[in-house]
Amino acid sequence: MQTESTKYIFVTGGVMSGLGKGVISSSLAKLLQLSNQKVSCVKIDPYLNYDAGTMNPIAHGEVFVTEDGGECDMDIGNYERFLNQNIPRTHNITTAQIYSSVIEAERRGEYLGACVQIIPHVTDAIKDRIKKIAKTENLDILVVECGGTVGDIESLPFLEALRQLRLEEGPENVLFVHVTLAPSLDVVGEQKTKPTQHSVQELRRIGIQPDLLAVRCSRPLEVDTKKKISLFSNVSAKDVFSCHDAESILMVPQMLYDQGIVDVIFKKFGKVGLLNTSANWDMWNAIVNSFLNSQEKVKIAMVGKYVKLADSYVSINHALKHAGAKLGKKVVIDWIWIDSEELNGDLDKLSQYSGIIVPGGFGERGSEGIIKTANYAREKNIPYLGICFGFQLAAVAFGRYVCGLSSANSTEIAPNTENPVIDLLPEQKIIENKGGSLRLGANEIKVEDNTLAFKLYKSNTIYKRHRHRYEFNQKYLELFTSKGIRFSGYSDSKKRMEILEIPSHKFYLGVQFHPEFNSRPGYPEESFEAFVNASSIA
Ligand code: GLN
Repeated sequence: MQTESTKYIFVTGGVMSGLGKGVISSSLAKLLQLSNQKVSCVKIDPYLNYDAGTMNPIAHGEVFVTEDGGECDMDIGNYERFLNQNIPRTHNITTAQIYSSVIEAERRGEYLGACVQIIPHVTDAIKDRIKKIAKTENLDILVVECGGTVGDIESLPFLEALRQLRLEEGPENVLFVHVTLAPSLDVVGEQKTKPTQHSVQELRRIGIQPDLLAVRCSRPLEVDTKKKISLFSNVSAKDVFSCHDAESILMVPQMLYDQGIVDVIFKKFGKVGLLNTSANWDMWNAIVNSFLNSQEKVKIAMVGKYVKLADSYVSINHALKHAGAKLGKKVVIDWIWIDSEELNGDLDKLSQYSGIIVPGGFGERGSEGIIKTANYAREKNIPYLGICFGFQLAAVAFGRYVCGLSSANSTEIAPNTENPVIDLLPEQKIIENKGGSLRLGANEIKVEDNTLAFKLYKSNTIYKRHRHRYEFNQKYLELFTSKGIRFSGYSDSKKRMEILEIPSHKFYLGVQFHPEFNSRPGYPEESFEAFVNASSIA
């Protein structure tokens, strides 16, 4: 039973993007969770998209899908992985969502003749949304990360709302943590404080005095640097924390803990004494160590469309690493962009890999290369894990090269193909809006006995997250099955095929869902664990 009201930690960012605010927010939440607090995280994205679903992963990073079907910013994935807890879609707040709710309320006549303005109507809507999460989830502490960099026009209404929240809830209930950078111009050079000074000034200009500073730097923050930052930013030196580069992001909670951050937060919140949390720490440390101790390499080729930016498939990268750590292996991932032309005759470069993974994707570009890749893995008995698009194009490859349907394709790629092995979901045919209209979120899947899928999930019923418009066309079910493919998982009373496998192959698995979103450090998603395991066996 919660006895007091929720405490808030607001995380803002200064200097520039990409400092790892998401990891710092997740690490703070993790530390508090390890200290037996009921915590959760919220991400504010001040952009004008309603959600992340329509953004290109190359520009913005992966679209993370929540259990309840939200297409969210990838930081939500960080929170889920660090906390080992599902985060509802309401925890990703965007400008579009706030403005739509205000405009809809205005149309309903809820503002009673008032002139509707950013202050107070928009800021009230932001505060209500945050407070509602804290209240309905009965949280001890809610960490709210505000995207963007202080000084951006877009984030101003959000920062203003957070400032007001502190005033309303009282300083004993709200902490501001500002993430900044102390660059050194060369390896041994002096750590520069000016960018931090300026970004704190910018924050103070809009009425926010940070309580804590988390300073990114390549090596631990020196005492003198801390003192200087403290003096210029009006933050006590003991409240300036070093967030230096680490071998693994999972080491950040320990790094902050060692500098006393939990005591500082508890004291500021007036929470008495630390509960005995050593058991929690033992479990967490065992997980972190499993990542640091895994040395033996397993080389995996990731053949997909958005391989130019590591963040495009961040959950898959993590899921592979979770699986590796549990198995004592270090998974090395090479991202391969396979242009259909480039790959012709060049498929053999894939032979140096122990496993091939094809992640999700959209559209025609690169699809021929992926189809050939899926076929290559099948012919050469190389472990294959196809996710969503990777499931669909594995089916296309099987149609072409095993069933003799040379024109087999997905109608997403070739709308008029004679053999639409992959076709639009019937209910998608009438949908016109592109935003938020795919088949999204967790759905029940039935898994058949005596299959690879059952062997790894050990259950006839699983729930997995989806994000797709196309699916396997059941017109081809009999032909495919007679040629040696097994559809071992399905949903909606067999209306949709969800899992395919080839029993005669070392490991050939395609899944219509996205298993990567359920993978957590210490608890790898089953298909990833089985895939990395199969890839580790010579
Ligand atoms: N483009 C495919 C579809 O819409 C696959 C989507 C994906 O890989 N997430 O069904």
